[in-house]
Amino acid sequence: MSLEKLANLIFPNTTKTPQDYLDKYPQRDLKDGQFVTRYAPSPTGFQHIGGVFASLVSERVATQSGGIFYLRIEDTDQKREVEGAIEDTIATMYKFGMEFNEGMTGENSHKGNYAPYRQSERKEMYEAFAKDLILQGKAYPCFATPEELDALREEQTSKKLNPGYYGEFAKYRNLPTEEAISKIEAGEQYIIRIKSMGDPEKRVEFHDLVKGDISFPENNQDIVIIKGDGLPTYHFAHAVDDTLMRTTHVTRGEEWLSSLPIHVQLFEMIGQQRPQYAHIPTIMKQDGGSKRKLSKRKDAESAVSYYDEEGYPIQCVVEYLLNIINSPYEMWRTENPDADYHEFIVHLDKMSKSGALFDIIKLNDVSKEIIAKMSADEMFELYTTWAKQYDEQMYKLATTNEPAVKTFFGIDKGTAKPRKDFAKWAEVKEKIVYLFDEFYDAETVEQIELPKTVDLAQAQEIVKQYKEIYNHNLTSQEEWFEDVKKFATEIGYCTNRKEYKNNPDAYKGMVSDVAGTIRAAVTHRSNTPELFIIMQILGEETVQKRFDKFLNQ
Ligand code: GLU
Repeated sequence: MSLEKLANLIFPNTTKTPQDYLDKYPQRDLKDGQFVTRYAPSPTGFQHIGGVFASLVSERVATQSGGIFYLRIEDTDQKREVEGAIEDTIATMYKFGMEFNEGMTGENSHKGNYAPYRQSERKEMYEAFAKDLILQGKAYPCFATPEELDALREEQTSKKLNPGYYGEFAKYRNLPTEEAISKIEAGEQYIIRIKSMGDPEKRVEFHDLVKGDISFPENNQDIVIIKGDGLPTYHFAHAVDDTLMRTTHVTRGEEWLSSLPIHVQLFEMIGQQRPQYAHIPTIMKQDGGSKRKLSKRKDAESAVSYYDEEGYPIQCVVEYLLNIINSPYEMWRTENPDADYHEFIVHLDKMSKSGALFDIIKLNDVSKEIIAKMSADEMFELYTTWAKQYDEQMYKLATTNEPAVKTFFGIDKGTAKPRKDFAKWAEVKEKIVYLFDEFYDAETVEQIELPKTVDLAQAQEIVKQYKEIYNHNLTSQEEWFEDVKKFATEIGYCTNRKEYKNNPDAYKGMVSDVAGTIRAAVTHRSNTPELFIIMQILGEETVQKRFDKFLNQ
């Protein structure tokens, strides 16, 4: 009777029971093997690449099973909430191709039958479950003040005991109910804790879908389930929400692994079956000889915005993340070069158990492969979309010279070994600016990359003569190179390396010196795609103008 009085005093407006909610949100109609997973971020504003990584795992395992993937916003820590973060999270997820079947669709909107999908709007459900625990004597109000808790911690530290609120130290756990009622009636502040029956001498055996079989001591802490502000702790909200939303698989960061004893216990206390768990490794970075967590403060690549700013196509980032999620992805991609990445089946048990290593060099390799396979039109579309936001000058140049840029992007496309020039759109400028006089004309003589064996005077001598015989009407790189060879021979350069080695004094240099000089004169670069095509893109007049400019250096 007095427990009922206590429960009603704490939750006077809670008339519904857990069963009412269990009926309202029935078991989902799932076929065998279908997963219901969720991405459950706290709206703290910073989009970490680790969030995309975790949600990609959740999305893939749900979608590939024909199940449900939903978005739940975990905003019970209202101090940490940042304005606009929900919209930002949703936009980020959609950008990375993750379509939620259910959940928040905007700051104030959602879809799906298990709503609300925002924890701050689910208060009545946490209260119903907490009230029920109080009624059963499994939870109690705790009146400990911050000073009392500090003193307790000091005492435990000095006695070298485990810190926390448990067993004999849990002063309010055995407070007579009548006394608790009087305290509440007198207006004393309190929070709600569970009355833990766990025994740390006993171990709980557990199977994690990523980590495998694990075991840990039972929880004996009287953990908080409802905080002073009336909202639930993460632990309690997790048990209530994943029960009522009928989650089958909790795929979440491994930082939660150590809380598992609490979660197992909470599901037991509320009398519900717990979901399966897959604890996803943290994204790590090699730093000198050791690995460390990818840090928001130290590593630019920890922010999702970094990939936008640098211009990594989304597909490249996603495929790279799939590489980290399951290392067989790389082999699968080689064997299925044209397949959609959605066809790859993600296996939770093939994830690294010890931390996923993030490596930007590898990302660049993956990205180069993917961009190399794109059509010139697709590259142009993605590049100009990026440039419009991040490089206005290049956006203008590229869009006003569309055919030139497309031809450039198209060099080598469709051949067995397409060029792998770009990992991200921010690299394009550096590699194509010489197509535009604005940039070429502004470059100084120091920027001209002549062949190492050729000085400026010798280079100018070559160009002076080449300018006279330059034929713009050749039809292929091969034909052009034959022509250069002929010209090189005529002006005293050798076309055979062996012969040149045996008799260096008989020649002014190698044909490569001649070709390299022409390349430097036209582009100022020592390394470009096929020069013949570049000269075709530039047009005869520009090529001749560039020869003149080079001669006047
Ligand atoms: N809100 C938790 C976090 O952002 C979610 C953990 C979970 O998926 O359960 O870490």
